[in-house]
Amino acid sequence: MKPEHDLEKLRHSAAHLLAHAIKELFPHAQATIGPATATGFFYDFLPKQNFKEEDLPLIEKKMYEIAQRNLPIIHKQISKSKARALYKNNPFKLELIDQIPSNTVGIAEQGNFFDLCKGGHVESTGQINYFKLLNISGSYWRANKENQALQRITGTAFFTQKDLNNFLQQRQDIIKYDHRNLGKELDLFSFHDEGVGFPFFHANGKTIITLLTNYMRNLITKAHYKEVSTPIMLRDELWKQSGHYDHYKDHMYFCIKEEKVYAIKPMNCPGAILIYLERPHSYRELPLRLAEFGLVHRYELSGVLHGLFRTRAFTIDDGHIFCTEDQIEQEVAKTITMTYEVFKQFGFQNITVGISTKPENAMGSTALWEKATNALKQALNHSGHTYEIYEGEGAFYGPKIEFRIEDSMGRTWQCGTIQIDFFLPKNFDLSYVQSNGTKARPVLIHRAIYGSFERFFAILLEHYKGNFPFWLAPVQVKVLTITDDQKEYAQTIVQQLNNHGIRTVLDESSDPIAGQIKAAQLQRIPWMIIIGKKEVANNTVSIRYRDGKQEFGLSLESILEKAKEKNLVSP
Ligand SMILES: [Zn+2]
Ligand SMILES: [Zn+2]
Repeated sequence: MKPEHDLEKLRHSAAHLLAHAIKELFPHAQATIGPATATGFFYDFLPKQNFKEEDLPLIEKKMYEIAQRNLPIIHKQISKSKARALYKNNPFKLELIDQIPSNTVGIAEQGNFFDLCKGGHVESTGQINYFKLLNISGSYWRANKENQALQRITGTAFFTQKDLNNFLQQRQDIIKYDHRNLGKELDLFSFHDEGVGFPFFHANGKTIITLLTNYMRNLITKAHYKEVSTPIMLRDELWKQSGHYDHYKDHMYFCIKEEKVYAIKPMNCPGAILIYLERPHSYRELPLRLAEFGLVHRYELSGVLHGLFRTRAFTIDDGHIFCTEDQIEQEVAKTITMTYEVFKQFGFQNITVGISTKPENAMGSTALWEKATNALKQALNHSGHTYEIYEGEGAFYGPKIEFRIEDSMGRTWQCGTIQIDFFLPKNFDLSYVQSNGTKARPVLIHRAIYGSFERFFAILLEHYKGNFPFWLAPVQVKVLTITDDQKEYAQTIVQQLNNHGIRTVLDESSDPIAGQIKAAQLQRIPWMIIIGKKEVANNTVSIRYRDGKQEFGLSLESILEKAKEKNLVSP
């Protein structure tokens, strides 16, 4: 595979190719901006008459035709006045020219087509062979709704047909395995107008959430966290003290009782802090790690809600670590290890890490920021992970580490954060008694690995394409019988598996075995146990796995053993 940088050149050149095709097909359409993106390229146009989806094949054909001409792509600098003359009928390009600080501007030329551009191309149009236009959507000049409405044509380009095919297959899969469809199909969750943005988990979905909770609970218990629970509603004064009221009021839900204002919590931190404040703490107790699976509510505009990816209510696998400044590094290192363990468990391999550093409006001394940021870097260095630095992108109250994971369809998701906080300990005047008897202020580390259970659930659902691994499947085993005569024997198998914590159901129907298999496949059940006359006679079972593989004549004990081995946690 060619490096990323080359792919960007190719896609940038493909955007020119698109504009060139539009110029030949629709000479009156005005081209505006057309960059390469992480997944392809787009170009925004102001057409005389709106483009339709049906136009795409036509435009694509023209692009291929121009590519075949194998026109050299030449980049040169021309004077601004010359550029203005070239674009005298295009106010968008004129605006862009005016904003370029130097006296000259770059122009890319291919045949009789030219485009305003900074450079970075393949050598000729003949090198752009594997591309596809994907869709037409609405956009605005400079992404500002007040400005001229435009039409965006999005496409992608690759160096090989294979890469292009893979990308297109992934794109189809993304639509096919949309978690909102899978959620319906597998009876996992739903949304209702009675509570817009608040998810309802059905029995199957709730089982998975419980398993995710218990898996995490095991990990944090081993890591010496103490699990707590804090109220869903707390007085407005608390939120004023925490700073959430000032910064976050518009996203909070309120209610009034006995003339007192309560807010439904948008975050769990102030609750953990009230627990910390309940009594004095000695340095010997630090680090104090409080965990909470805390349900929060955040008001979001209905337009941005998106299934379980973006809801108005969600549960965070929250952790608040109260520690000394010197303990930051060790605590961060432990959290990094745990985070990687979790991602590995779910089969996420490409993980990228970034540190967001001190922004302009930061609070706290430079020395403290430096110490904390260095602790984050050291923790990552010592654990052998490379990372990017997001300069100036930290929160005003401290630096943070962010993790991004790549799913089975090539998409990346921000998941997991470790946030250092100097602000809340100060606001709430938190302290601990040092070994010399004087008081000092602890640092607060907020960390989450799943982030939102709901969102993580949806990421998993799409990542697995609905085929949850054995340990997470709501129903792990379905027992099928060749005829009704075996139902009684089957019933005992179901009972024994359930007794050992293997989630097992019986197909009660009298459908032919092929129909029963089909039904279990649609429910994406990992194991089918099939029982016929022979199995009853020999006191054995046959098993058929989700991938179609089968084993015959097994003892129930061997199946139980295998199942128990695969089960990480029980609900
Ligand atoms: Zn260019
Ligand atoms: Zn927090």
